Amino acid sequence: MKLSNLLFNSLKESPKEAKIISHQLMLRSSMIRQHTSGIYTWLPLGFKVLKNIENIIRINQDEIGCNEMLMSTIQSSELWKKSGRYADYGKEMLRITDRHDNDLLYGPTNEEVITDLFSDYVNSYKGLPKYLYHIQWKFRDEIRPRFGVMRGREFLMKDAYSFDLTEEAAFETYKKFFRSYLKTFLDLGLQPIPVKAATGAIGGDLSHEFQILANTGESELAYDSKLVDSNLYEKSYEEITTMYSASDEMIDKSKSDVIIGRGIEVGHIFNFGTKYTKPLECFVLNQDGKRITPYMGSYGIGVSRLTAAIIEAFHDDKGIKWPINISPFKINIIMQPNPDYISDVESIYNLLITKYDNVSLDDRDLSIGRKIKDSELIGIPWTLIIGNNFKEKGQIELISRSNSDKIFLSKQEIENFEFEQYTP
Ligand code: ATP
Ligand code: MG
Repeated sequence: MKLSNLLFNSLKESPKEAKIISHQLMLRSSMIRQHTSGIYTWLPLGFKVLKNIENIIRINQDEIGCNEMLMSTIQSSELWKKSGRYADYGKEMLRITDRHDNDLLYGPTNEEVITDLFSDYVNSYKGLPKYLYHIQWKFRDEIRPRFGVMRGREFLMKDAYSFDLTEEAAFETYKKFFRSYLKTFLDLGLQPIPVKAATGAIGGDLSHEFQILANTGESELAYDSKLVDSNLYEKSYEEITTMYSASDEMIDKSKSDVIIGRGIEVGHIFNFGTKYTKPLECFVLNQDGKRITPYMGSYGIGVSRLTAAIIEAFHDDKGIKWPINISPFKINIIMQPNPDYISDVESIYNLLITKYDNVSLDDRDLSIGRKIKDSELIGIPWTLIIGNNFKEKGQIELISRSNSDKIFLSKQEIENFEFEQYTP
């Protein structure tokens, strides 16, 4: 993309209302704009990042046989009355009345809707297990929306739901999602810490939150220092949960290897048996033709919150430092306004865009210094400068956002350079 076409206004100063670094950087780099309290517009750069995160989550869900679908944001209140949650959910639920006086609501989560839907399509043990998910906007009328998209009122969530014939099978499914979540967060460049959690409004008796460490996080964590271990995914559920249980009973806070820190909750999984299938009268026939109430779990990831959480993990005083698979652009080519070697610039841009797909060309009428600053603020992994050195010596300057290292390459060397090999 040519940056002259991009809706983008970099701000030098942080807006006063932004208290944490991710919120400041998202506003300064035109990723989001507040529409009204806790509700945001995703501007082009923010939207690209959101899509990239979504995609990494999608690949991982598809890998464990989860079906992607899309349920509506607006739900009927009928099913919620049956499950008993219509009254229980309280003021966080946005309730809407339509012109015929029907009670509708903006979905804060989808257990009821998916259970009802599942009943319609699966009625035999042969159809089990089934895993379904969608990536859809949710609304929760949070009492104190804050920190930008970290705690919004409208936010994007990936929510998956599982159905199994027996309690044992449901636990196996839970473990499958648990491990898939570890891999998802590792793929996003994050170090997840699974924590045994309270089940809250979703219910059930087994639940884990996935936290990532950040000083600005809203959750207090006590964890064993040995646990910050990137080989986590190689361990089994049992090994990990024994190690990682951060509940107060399990961890002696006085022990020297216990660290008290703060975390951001980026995911939450629940195993709640028949909490919804029972009241909604969902059943399947087993091998003997007997009616069985299926066992369920649900599995959430805060997609929009992750954009901010990743920035909390990857930034410096110049701006964001995106992991390459999440960055809005992998490579940013900076050129001088109207150079007489424009055909060379365009041929390099065309070559890279064919190979790497999301490449930007900063063709705006601004100084090279200013363009470098914007590239650093946005957090693009690689910046290529095609300027005076190119004109005089045929050299292109390549700067890594990770460590600010500069190297000079010829056009030929650029063609062969491995841009994907980058750690932020
Ligand atoms: P929290 O404890 O942060 O309020 P929750 O436990 O109410 O979250 P869940 O129902 O577990 O949230 O939702 C699944 C995921 O959705 C959370 O792990 C979080 O990443 C994300 N999420 C929840 N509420 C918000 C919000 N208000 N803004 C942005 N993301 C959210
Ligand atoms: Mg939660």
